[in-house]
This record gives sequence, C-alpha cells and structure tokens, in this order.
Amino acid sequence: METTQTGASHPSQQEWAEQLRSNGRRVTKQRLAVLDAVDAMPHATADDTVRRVRQVLPNISVQSIYVVLADLTAIGMVSKFEPPGSPARYETRTGDNHHHAYCINCGMIADVACAVGHSPCLTPSEDHGMKLLSAEVVYRGICAQCQQDMANSSAVQ
Ligand SMILES: [Zn+2]
Ligand SMILES: [Zn+2]
Repeated sequence: METTQTGASHPSQQEWAEQLRSNGRRVTKQRLAVLDAVDAMPHATADDTVRRVRQVLPNISVQSIYVVLADLTAIGMVSKFEPPGSPARYETRTGDNHHHAYCINCGMIADVACAVGHSPCLTPSEDHGMKLLSAEVVYRGICAQCQQDMANSSAVQ
C-alpha cells in the first residue's frame, strides 16, 4: 500500500470513497482498485488498467473492469481522451480542462495545462447556435527523447 503524502495531489482511498458516495456509488474494492490503477498510471489504456487491477484482484473479469472504468468516466471521477490513431486513455486528473501533447513517434503523452484555465478555451469563429462546453486540444509532435534519438542515429559515428 502506498502511504498518503501531505501536499500530494493524489487522493487517498478515503477521498475516493467520499467521491464515490457523493456520486451515489457504493464503495467497492473493484472501484477503488480501478481508481488506484488509473491514478498510478496517468494516460493508461483500458488494457493497461486491466493488467494492473488484476495484480491486486486476480479474479476480477476483464468485462467488470471495463464496466467500472466506463462508469467512473460517466460520473467524472476518471476522464477519458482519445489520441489520434491510438486506443483511449484514462486518467484521474479531471476538471481542470488540461490538454495533451502526443508524440507521433513513440506515443508518449504529456499533460499541458490549459492556457486559459476553463473550457471552452478556444473561441470558435462560428458557434452554430450551440452552447459550447469544451474544446478538445491535442498537440501532436515529436518528444524530446525521440528528437534526441533521431539526432543520434543520423549522426556520423
Ligand atoms: Zn517520442
Ligand atoms: Zn492528462
């Protein structure tokens, strides 16, 4: 078990439990295990989450984990985003309208704080009469490590 660090942004099991109850959900070890797994591996895929949860709860079915993950996403305790051409990713960092930078070479994903701080943070040229709720921003690029690897591999030895 991890110990709770003061000042850390990671909620304790007790805080997870309170959030679950305030969303009308029972506190189960399955839900807590999924929250722990997603919290420990920001931007994990559903498959990554399954592997990690099963280290703690070996008998839980893949389907149950998917159902819990979808439900936690629906109540906003987990957020989901889908990088282009890659499986959906999950994280417990929710509600801050942060964006993502995605390396097209290795798939690395990093959080980018919203420059405006609230959604939608882009002003559209046309709103089509809609009440706009959010804008999804993905910065695509080549990460620092990949840039370095490319520079090294093209250097004459
Ligand atoms: Zn990369
Ligand atoms: Zn993120």
